[in-house]
Amino acid sequence: MTSFADLGLSDTLLKSIKSCGYENPTPIQEKSIPIILMGRDVLGSAQTGTGKTASFTLPMIDILDAGRAKARLPRSLILTPTRELAAQVSESFNQFSQNHGLTKALLIGGVSFGEQDALLDRGVDVLIATPGRLLDHLERGKVLLRDVKILVIDEADRMLDMGFIPDVEKITKLLPKIRQTLFFSATLNKTIYKISENFVINPKIIEISPEFTTADTVEQFVCHTTPRKKHDTLRQLITSENVANAFIFCNRKRDIATLKTSLNKNGMDAECLHGDMSQSARNAALTRFKNNEVKLLVASDVAARGIDIAGLSHVFNFDVPSNPEDYVHRIGRTGRAGNLGKAFSLVANDDDKSAINAIEKLIGKTIPSVDSGNTGKTTSKKPNKSAESTTNAEPASTAENSATEKSPTENSIAKNVTQDTARTDAKSSPRRKKPTRYEGERDAPPDCSGSSFKETEHTPAFLLNQTA
Ligand code: AMP
Repeated sequence: MTSFADLGLSDTLLKSIKSCGYENPTPIQEKSIPIILMGRDVLGSAQTGTGKTASFTLPMIDILDAGRAKARLPRSLILTPTRELAAQVSESFNQFSQNHGLTKALLIGGVSFGEQDALLDRGVDVLIATPGRLLDHLERGKVLLRDVKILVIDEADRMLDMGFIPDVEKITKLLPKIRQTLFFSATLNKTIYKISENFVINPKIIEISPEFTTADTVEQFVCHTTPRKKHDTLRQLITSENVANAFIFCNRKRDIATLKTSLNKNGMDAECLHGDMSQSARNAALTRFKNNEVKLLVASDVAARGIDIAGLSHVFNFDVPSNPEDYVHRIGRTGRAGNLGKAFSLVANDDDKSAINAIEKLIGKTIPSVDSGNTGKTTSKKPNKSAESTTNAEPASTAENSATEKSPTENSIAKNVTQDTARTDAKSSPRRKKPTRYEGERDAPPDCSGSSFKETEHTPAFLLNQTA
């Protein structure tokens, strides 16, 4: 078995890796690290949770160790689609560079420009940024990219989904042409290959897992319910499962607060996380969750990628995602780094059933059905489309579902949810063409809100000068 010492990393770095508790490199690390140390461009694809972050941060640290940063001229740049992912990359960098004297700045929305400017003025070896915030700094002339020797584009497919590729292109035009570029994406499909051609030169292609497989460490189930009973079914699942901590995903941001209130009213402490929250509120929610002060986090797809909570025991899809790829990312929050996890998806209507069919096609497996009141018992056969009856699949306990047992507020919440679902159902009847944009997050970039070109419809002066 290959060890970290076989990959060509320095002794100082091996010491830091050891103190992080890593024993052996993951496949993406084993393949990427030697190539990156050689100075080659990389076009890498790896599932979330495969150790991708270390696969580029570790060799970068050794490469950057020779040399010093000058004021406002960062020596490397890591672009990530979301603030959360940028913050996580930054945390990993801190851990791995604990025995090196390297400097770093994190440029993300929701943090004061003053603090970030002060760091840039001192000079940084690594700049970790979301595209929108970096463009703001560039416009203000606070940072210059002409000294960047290594560029990392992380989660390129997510950048594409969020409409950030034009911003990334604008940024890369300001970088030296001769540089090393590491381009990572969860998938390497035709579109991503085409996009990557604008950034990488003769890259080494590293593909770790086939497209959209789910980790064997995640046990997956569907639980059949009805729109009216979704809240009860979710609570039954949470009660019958030994939930240490869980993400609960909703498709629409507006449903997140409703669900949190309903859980809270039933004695289940929950926090929210979605792109419309301020950065400080998002950080506070994540910190409470990470510190185990609250064990349920009701979230939009902003939490589906990148966020790494050690040992997350469960993922619940309160709504089945309409994009099957989102399912893979959502459930990839659990079962990470060798831990076991469970993922449950509530199937409440025909759209959900079609979405589950599409997911099963993508991941190449059938997801067994389970009873919300008795999750140990999977139904022997997955109900087929025509024979399926909602009554069969309903939660065993009807007492908990009885409207008389709910608080008046929850009754009205349930009513609203039913109405909402009815509206959505009407919108997405089978005759309609499938929407190309996904519900919820994808309507607007969930982060960098107000700071990307798309949002502000504003072109910074330095770019106007360039095109003039
Ligand atoms: P990532 O795919 O970069 O989000 O990493 C997923 C998780 O795997 C993180 O919690 C890392 O700390 C952990 N991890 C990364 N590399 C290793 C390794 N070689 N051994 C054990 N855990 C690792």
